[in-house]
Amino acid sequence: MPKHIFVTGGVVSSLGKGIASASIAKILEAKGLKVALQKLDPYLNVDPGTMNPFQHGEVYVTDDGAETDLDLGHYERFTHSTLGRENNVTSGQIYHSVITKERRGDYLGGTVQVVPHITNEIKERIRDVSRNKRYDVVISEVGGTAGDIESLPFLEAARQFRHEVGRENSLFIHLTLVPFIRAAGELKTKPTQHSVGTLREIGIQPDILICRTEKKLDQGLKDKIALFCNVEPEAVIEARDVASIYECPLTFKDEEIDKVICQKLKIEYKAGSLHDWKKNVVDKALHPKHSVRIAVVGKYIDLQDAYKSIYESLKHGGIANDAAVVIKKINSEHIGNARSLEQFKGVSGILVPGGFGVRGIEGKLRAIQFAREKKIPFFGICLGMQCAAIEFARNALDMKGAHSTEFNKKTPYPVISLLEEQQNVKNMGGTMRLGAYPCQIKKDTLAHKAYKADEISERHRHRYEFNNEYREKFQKAGMKLSGVSPSGKLVEMIELEGHPWFLAVQFHPEFKSKPDGAHPLFREFVRHALLYQNERGAKPPVPESHESPKISVPEQEKGEIHA
Ligand code: GLN
Repeated sequence: MPKHIFVTGGVVSSLGKGIASASIAKILEAKGLKVALQKLDPYLNVDPGTMNPFQHGEVYVTDDGAETDLDLGHYERFTHSTLGRENNVTSGQIYHSVITKERRGDYLGGTVQVVPHITNEIKERIRDVSRNKRYDVVISEVGGTAGDIESLPFLEAARQFRHEVGRENSLFIHLTLVPFIRAAGELKTKPTQHSVGTLREIGIQPDILICRTEKKLDQGLKDKIALFCNVEPEAVIEARDVASIYECPLTFKDEEIDKVICQKLKIEYKAGSLHDWKKNVVDKALHPKHSVRIAVVGKYIDLQDAYKSIYESLKHGGIANDAAVVIKKINSEHIGNARSLEQFKGVSGILVPGGFGVRGIEGKLRAIQFAREKKIPFFGICLGMQCAAIEFARNALDMKGAHSTEFNKKTPYPVISLLEEQQNVKNMGGTMRLGAYPCQIKKDTLAHKAYKADEISERHRHRYEFNNEYREKFQKAGMKLSGVSPSGKLVEMIELEGHPWFLAVQFHPEFKSKPDGAHPLFREFVRHALLYQNERGAKPPVPESHESPKISVPEQEKGEIHA
């Protein structure tokens, strides 16, 4: 039976529970332990697939086609654990399953209640992770913040779980905030005390506290937190703000969180080394030799989490080229006239990511035309590829009004359209082309040079596809179809002849990039951006270290379709 770790959060949201969970998993993996990660999300959507990015951030897709929380992206980037449907459980799924059983008559005669029916279902899902696979440790991250109404059933289930498996087989780690009050010049422990108090009220005494802080927590403060929160002083772990999220496993290890975990879970302690991670990831991320500016053109660029995996993959591409990638976020709605193209000054690569809905499309098309004509390295992903096809049809093939039928059903040139099997789909949830599909790559293409393989597998999340009726016209005009599905029916990758690097893909390569194994397309895109910058004798940008804050939902979002 595996050991179980539950990670909860307190005081405020966005403290980085996902990164903390992934970092702990990384440290344990370095000891040779086999670790699984799971996210328990309290909302009632069955999955985040139907949510607006402003509500939820990016929807992360696994090989088996599950649309999941973006924390699973952190899990995959930091560790070797393979993730699928069972690694993201939502209240929506739990209730759906319990109500289905009730209708079937499974509980005949009984009153169906949150306790025990919902909590039992949650405990089953926690056990499911290791049902057919051997793991030493299962880490379950509970979404939300202690004190939320929504997360109560998950916390109650975790409490019962511990009672059933015992203290030596389970552990509670609570992530809190120790704010620095500038006027007083002091770090404050009260919010942490209250948050732990809230957990105790529902019967959970955390074993380890991870304290987010901007300043050093001295031993006196650690002792105070330990005393009032009823944990051992060694179990108060400082998590100071870091320049790169990839430093977190190193800072946690310096704080010896692993010693406390092993001691409490009675796991034999082996030091384990994060040397390679430090050398190949952290040192490279913190001290790059070069730097290059890349524009990401989308309609959700004001929200850091909307393109999380894209931004991380660009960083990975940077690490692979010993370069910092300075990301210039350009709102596609702010690209209109020729003057607005000045935003691209100093940009050596343009990336158009995935998306849904017509808003901002014309700006994306303009950005792509600019990249195509000025021979700036271009990388299109999913909707980005669809836009590249539309732009090419309109401006290189003179097909006025060419479009995707997602945006204009009556377009004279539907270069992107729905496959027959999608035409009768009525339900919006989980009905796109989702998950891993094979793709065959033609020789002598940029794609083949990057992957160095004839067949690859990549993850998809879209309904619309390149319309095969236009294949010949595109090819004749120099748009190569460099990747197609094994049946030959679906166009998966396109690239432009006579351009140094113009490549677009129907899938989402950003879900498979790792800091110590950059995705080949991101690696090559960044390399070509650096070449472009050098050829032009352009001044490399100064790397910035901080990410932009979240903003509220703009008016236009209401009623827009996102799936
Ligand atoms: N909206 C497009 C489609 O459904 C692209 C989706 C995406 O970029 N993920 O096909």
